[in-house]
Amino acid sequence: MKHNILTNLSHVKARVKAACLKAGRDPGSVKLLLATKTVSAENIRIAMEAGESLLGENKVQELKSKYEALHPFSNQLHFIGHLQTNKVKEVIKYATCIQSVDRIRLAEKLQNRLTFEDRRMDVFIQVNTSYEQSKFGAAPENTLKLIQEVSSMDRLKIKGLMTIGLFSAEPEKVRKCFRLLKNLQEQAMALNLPGVSLDELSMGMSGDLEIAIEEGATMVRVGTAIFGKRPYPDSYYWNENNGPKAYL
Ligand SMILES: *Cc1c(COP(=O)(O)O)cnc(C)c1O
Repeated sequence: MKHNILTNLSHVKARVKAACLKAGRDPGSVKLLLATKTVSAENIRIAMEAGESLLGENKVQELKSKYEALHPFSNQLHFIGHLQTNKVKEVIKYATCIQSVDRIRLAEKLQNRLTFEDRRMDVFIQVNTSYEQSKFGAAPENTLKLIQEVSSMDRLKIKGLMTIGLFSAEPEKVRKCFRLLKNLQEQAMALNLPGVSLDELSMGMSGDLEIAIEEGATMVRVGTAIFGKRPYPDSYYWNENNGPKAYL
């Protein structure tokens, strides 16, 4: 297992680097986030010992269960799954950044709880660039308004945008999603909102990271290509209420 993870990791890093060079970008401009849903803390540690430290979990319960084992080695534990408002209090105990802020109500809950605890939190705004019903994220046409509203919440620091591209064998359809996110980033930056940096574009996964990098990703989120196949389809892990309890 260890050998596989290390081999896969170096392969993914080589893919990231090649995609950067092809796009005329500095390979240092794209961060690798390990998408670690269902992966044991022990296997995550193998990748961390090889130098990785940016992790993303999809479920609050799973993040909590691995926290003790992981946090001494990483101060970058991102939450990348769908977040229910009733999990806000719990998630901010463990996550250092929430990439899935996709509605005002959730942002308000975060703002209120963080105010109560006198803390701040980095967030990304998640956009549903594929317009699929099954995917979470703000509708693209509502995104600028959401960014504006969140920017007025002093406890939330917007760092960038996040999306999950369309699952399609047609690269041009996938590319459209990433291009839309980049486009929204540019529009939002033009608003010059105080305290909003928006530099990060979290997009691209095992199957489409090259396209995402060509379109300007600054962070790719990779699971399968490093840790192997997961036993359930992703829709299980994207919804907090679903998924195999066996992993928790
Ligand atoms: C699982 C997941 C990933 C990684 O997907 P892979 O195809 O396994 O690389 C990225 N982002 C999110 C939000 C995920 O849930």
